[in-house]
Amino acid sequence: MSQAENFKDLGLDTRLIKILDHQGIYKPTEIQEQAVPTAMVGHDLIASSKTGSGKTLAFLLPAMQRLMKQKALTKRDPRVLVLAPTRELAKQVYAQLRSLTSGTQFKAALVLGGENFNDQAKALAKDPHVVVATPGRLANHLDERSLFLAGLELLILDEADRMLDLGFAEQLQQINNIANHRLRQTLMFSATLDHAEVNAIASQLLKAPKRIAIGAAN
Ligand code: ADP
Ligand code: MG
Repeated sequence: MSQAENFKDLGLDTRLIKILDHQGIYKPTEIQEQAVPTAMVGHDLIASSKTGSGKTLAFLLPAMQRLMKQKALTKRDPRVLVLAPTRELAKQVYAQLRSLTSGTQFKAALVLGGENFNDQAKALAKDPHVVVATPGRLANHLDERSLFLAGLELLILDEADRMLDLGFAEQLQQINNIANHRLRQTLMFSATLDHAEVNAIASQLLKAPKRIAIGAAN
């Protein structure tokens, strides 16, 4: 399969390409080459590729592109929510997100279990455009009404198989029910698509998804 030579071929905003350039990232990986344009035209997506293949940028780039192409950011509530199974993974996603948002007008917040709830509520009250979270704590914030998802446009599930293995199905369903199901786009990433629970939750959360599976599942 022919790889896109560079990120410009994928139709990304030149500001994003510049940020990637500064990080020494010039050429999309295979999952990025396939997932970024599919996500950018608005399709729901369920995708798998092996660890280390660049899945984080495969979903953060379309998320950033979506924010950048909006003329005015007037609505409150986060536009983009990224869920990751563990504190460590959520922190890694957040670090990559910050490397894309620094120097832009876009605000991001990190919501992890095991940390001060009120501090997080204060950060959420500042109307971040993107929230990265673990599912349990995110569900707590919805219960306590320190977070609303009526304006959500893009829901991303990273390592969905692991979230389900950790018992987060109920929280994912709760978030799905609240999060503007009709208008939003959903991207789901998993180490494998051959996972009964992943497919069951995909059928609830995704609308006519495109499937992308790169290489052998690990
Ligand atoms: P995965 O989620 O698939 O396990 P990551 O998104 O964590 O993989 O990416 C693994 C590493 O590869 C990260 O350090 C990331 O910065 C780097 N990386 C991602 N995309 C590219 C790219 N197109 N070119 C070079 N390095 C990349
Ligand atoms: Mg990953």
